[in-house]
Amino acid sequence: MSNLESALKIVNIGEPVLRKPAKILTKEEILKEETQALIQEMKKTMHEAPGVGLAAPQVGKSLQIAVIEDREEYHKSWTPAQLEARKRVPVPFHVIINPKIVFRSQEMTEFYEGCLSIPNLIGVVSRSKEVIVECLNERGEPMKIHASGWFARILQHEFDHLNGILNIDKTVTTTLTNFENFEKYWKAKS
Ligand code: ZN
Repeated sequence: MSNLESALKIVNIGEPVLRKPAKILTKEEILKEETQALIQEMKKTMHEAPGVGLAAPQVGKSLQIAVIEDREEYHKSWTPAQLEARKRVPVPFHVIINPKIVFRSQEMTEFYEGCLSIPNLIGVVSRSKEVIVECLNERGEPMKIHASGWFARILQHEFDHLNGILNIDKTVTTTLTNFENFEKYWKAKS
Protein backbone atom coordinates (compact mmCIF):
# COMPACT_ATOMS: atom_id res chain seq x y z
CA MET A 1 0.00 0.00 0.00
CA SER A 2 1.07 3.52 -0.64
CA ASN A 3 1.71 5.76 2.31
CA LEU A 4 2.70 8.82 0.37
CA GLU A 5 1.68 11.88 2.32
CA SER A 6 1.72 14.22 -0.59
CA ALA A 7 0.57 13.84 -4.13
CA LEU A 8 2.90 12.99 -6.98
CA LYS A 9 4.74 15.75 -8.78
CA ILE A 10 3.13 16.77 -12.06
CA VAL A 11 5.76 17.33 -14.75
CA ASN A 12 5.50 20.26 -17.12
CA ILE A 13 5.79 20.70 -20.86
CA GLY A 14 9.39 20.17 -21.96
CA GLU A 15 9.82 16.96 -19.93
CA PRO A 16 10.73 14.29 -22.51
CA VAL A 17 8.34 11.74 -20.91
CA LEU A 18 5.39 13.84 -22.10
CA ARG A 19 6.46 13.29 -25.72
CA LYS A 20 6.96 9.52 -25.60
CA PRO A 21 4.24 7.01 -26.53
CA ALA A 22 3.56 5.28 -23.21
CA LYS A 23 4.00 1.56 -22.60
CA ILE A 24 1.07 -0.84 -22.86
CA LEU A 25 0.40 -2.91 -19.71
CA THR A 26 -0.44 -6.58 -19.45
CA LYS A 27 -3.20 -7.71 -17.08
CA GLU A 28 -0.49 -9.10 -14.76
CA GLU A 29 1.25 -5.73 -14.69
CA ILE A 30 -2.04 -3.95 -13.97
CA LEU A 31 -2.72 -6.20 -10.98
CA LYS A 32 0.76 -5.68 -9.48
CA GLU A 33 0.80 -3.88 -6.16
CA GLU A 34 3.01 -1.09 -7.49
CA THR A 35 0.61 -0.37 -10.37
CA GLN A 36 -2.38 -0.37 -8.01
CA ALA A 37 -0.49 2.02 -5.72
CA LEU A 38 0.37 4.27 -8.67
CA ILE A 39 -3.33 4.44 -9.65
CA GLN A 40 -4.29 5.49 -6.11
CA GLU A 41 -1.54 8.12 -6.08
CA MET A 42 -2.64 9.42 -9.47
CA LYS A 43 -6.23 9.71 -8.19
CA LYS A 44 -5.03 11.71 -5.21
CA THR A 45 -2.79 13.90 -7.37
CA MET A 46 -5.68 14.63 -9.77
CA HIS A 47 -7.92 15.61 -6.85
CA GLU A 48 -5.30 17.83 -5.26
CA ALA A 49 -4.41 19.62 -8.52
CA PRO A 50 -7.44 19.77 -9.00
CA GLY A 51 -8.04 18.39 -12.47
CA VAL A 52 -10.57 16.25 -14.34
CA GLY A 53 -7.97 13.92 -15.82
CA LEU A 54 -4.38 12.84 -15.32
CA ALA A 55 -2.21 10.56 -17.44
CA ALA A 56 0.73 8.56 -16.06
CA PRO A 57 3.32 10.41 -18.24
CA GLN A 58 2.27 13.58 -16.39
CA VAL A 59 3.67 12.08 -13.19
CA GLY A 60 6.80 10.88 -15.00
CA LYS A 61 5.62 7.30 -15.69
CA SER A 62 5.58 6.22 -19.33
CA LEU A 63 2.63 3.84 -18.89
CA GLN A 64 -0.76 3.66 -20.66
CA ILE A 65 -2.77 4.64 -17.58
CA ALA A 66 -5.05 7.64 -17.11
CA VAL A 67 -7.51 8.58 -14.39
CA ILE A 68 -10.60 10.71 -15.00
CA GLU A 69 -13.21 12.24 -12.72
CA ASP A 70 -15.30 15.36 -13.23
CA ARG A 71 -16.86 16.33 -9.91
CA GLU A 72 -19.94 18.46 -9.57
CA GLU A 73 -18.06 20.80 -7.23
CA TYR A 74 -15.78 21.77 -10.15
CA HIS A 75 -18.81 23.11 -12.00
CA LYS A 76 -19.57 25.89 -9.51
CA SER A 77 -17.54 28.49 -11.39
CA TRP A 78 -19.56 27.89 -14.58
CA THR A 79 -23.09 29.01 -15.37
CA PRO A 80 -25.76 26.43 -16.27
CA ALA A 81 -25.68 27.79 -19.85
CA GLN A 82 -21.90 27.32 -20.06
CA LEU A 83 -22.17 23.78 -18.71
CA GLU A 84 -24.98 23.03 -21.15
CA ALA A 85 -22.96 24.40 -24.11
CA ARG A 86 -20.06 22.14 -23.13
CA LYS A 87 -22.36 19.21 -22.40
CA ARG A 88 -20.47 19.04 -19.13
CA VAL A 89 -21.97 16.76 -16.49
CA PRO A 90 -20.34 14.99 -13.54
CA VAL A 91 -18.29 11.93 -14.50
CA PRO A 92 -17.53 9.31 -11.83
CA PHE A 93 -13.96 8.15 -11.23
CA HIS A 94 -12.57 6.04 -14.08
CA VAL A 95 -9.26 4.28 -14.61
CA ILE A 96 -8.44 3.98 -18.30
CA ILE A 97 -5.65 1.58 -19.32
CA ASN A 98 -4.33 0.89 -22.87
CA PRO A 99 -7.14 2.98 -24.44
CA LYS A 100 -8.02 2.87 -28.12
CA ILE A 101 -10.44 5.35 -29.65
CA VAL A 102 -12.49 3.09 -31.92
CA PHE A 103 -14.93 5.80 -33.00
CA ARG A 104 -14.64 9.58 -33.29
CA SER A 105 -17.61 11.62 -34.50
CA GLN A 106 -17.01 13.87 -37.49
CA GLU A 107 -18.94 16.53 -35.66
CA MET A 108 -16.57 18.69 -33.63
CA THR A 109 -16.84 21.16 -30.75
CA GLU A 110 -14.45 24.02 -30.03
CA PHE A 111 -13.79 25.16 -26.48
CA TYR A 112 -10.97 26.47 -24.33
CA GLU A 113 -9.07 23.55 -22.86
CA GLY A 114 -6.25 23.52 -20.35
CA CYS A 115 -3.68 20.95 -19.23
CA LEU A 116 -2.10 20.42 -15.80
CA SER A 117 1.30 20.04 -17.52
CA ILE A 118 0.99 23.43 -19.23
CA PRO A 119 0.45 25.81 -16.32
CA ASN A 120 -1.33 29.11 -16.79
CA LEU A 121 -2.01 28.68 -20.51
CA ILE A 122 -5.32 27.83 -22.13
CA GLY A 123 -6.56 27.88 -25.72
CA VAL A 124 -9.26 26.65 -28.04
CA VAL A 125 -9.03 22.99 -29.07
CA SER A 126 -11.37 21.31 -31.52
CA ARG A 127 -12.48 17.82 -30.40
CA SER A 128 -14.92 15.22 -31.63
CA LYS A 129 -18.33 15.56 -29.97
CA GLU A 130 -18.57 11.84 -29.40
CA VAL A 131 -16.10 8.99 -29.00
CA ILE A 132 -16.10 5.31 -28.22
CA VAL A 133 -13.09 4.12 -26.24
CA GLU A 134 -12.04 0.54 -25.64
CA CYS A 135 -9.67 0.03 -22.75
CA LEU A 136 -9.01 -1.97 -19.60
CA ASN A 137 -10.04 -0.93 -16.11
CA GLU A 138 -7.93 -1.11 -12.92
CA ARG A 139 -8.72 -4.82 -12.62
CA GLY A 140 -7.50 -5.48 -16.16
CA GLU A 141 -11.05 -6.09 -17.40
CA PRO A 142 -12.11 -4.89 -20.87
CA MET A 143 -14.33 -1.84 -20.84
CA LYS A 144 -16.11 0.11 -23.56
CA ILE A 145 -16.95 3.76 -22.95
CA HIS A 146 -19.38 5.67 -25.15
CA ALA A 147 -18.89 9.33 -24.27
CA SER A 148 -20.10 12.65 -25.52
CA GLY A 149 -19.58 16.29 -24.60
CA TRP A 150 -16.97 17.21 -22.03
CA PHE A 151 -16.32 13.59 -21.05
CA ALA A 152 -15.48 12.84 -24.71
CA ARG A 153 -13.10 15.83 -24.67
CA ILE A 154 -11.36 14.58 -21.52
CA LEU A 155 -10.96 11.11 -23.02
CA GLN A 156 -9.41 12.52 -26.21
CA HIS A 157 -7.07 14.73 -24.14
CA GLU A 158 -5.87 11.82 -21.98
CA PHE A 159 -5.58 9.46 -24.97
CA ASP A 160 -3.31 12.03 -26.60
CA HIS A 161 -1.13 12.21 -23.46
CA LEU A 162 -0.57 8.44 -23.68
CA ASN A 163 0.67 8.92 -27.24
CA GLY A 164 3.05 11.80 -26.62
CA ILE A 165 0.63 14.47 -27.84
CA LEU A 166 -0.18 17.61 -25.85
CA ASN A 167 -3.32 19.68 -26.30
CA ILE A 168 -1.17 22.65 -27.27
CA ASP A 169 -0.31 20.76 -30.50
CA LYS A 170 -4.00 21.07 -31.44
CA THR A 171 -4.68 24.50 -30.00
CA VAL A 172 -5.61 27.37 -32.28
CA THR A 173 -2.51 29.36 -31.30
CA THR A 174 -4.12 32.76 -31.79
CA THR A 175 -6.57 31.90 -28.97
CA LEU A 176 -3.86 31.17 -26.38
CA THR A 177 -4.32 33.14 -23.17
CA ASN A 178 -3.16 33.02 -19.58
CA PHE A 179 -5.73 32.21 -16.88
CA GLU A 180 -6.16 35.82 -15.76
CA ASN A 181 -7.05 37.02 -19.24
CA PHE A 182 -9.18 33.93 -19.86
CA GLU A 183 -11.34 34.94 -16.88
CA LYS A 184 -11.29 38.59 -17.90
CA TYR A 185 -12.08 38.34 -21.61
CA TRP A 186 -12.94 34.85 -22.84
CA LYS A 187 -14.66 32.65 -20.26
CA ALA A 188 -18.10 34.17 -20.76
CA LYS A 189 -18.01 33.79 -24.55
CA SER A 190 -19.29 30.67 -26.21
ZN1 ZN B 1 -3.18 17.33 -20.03
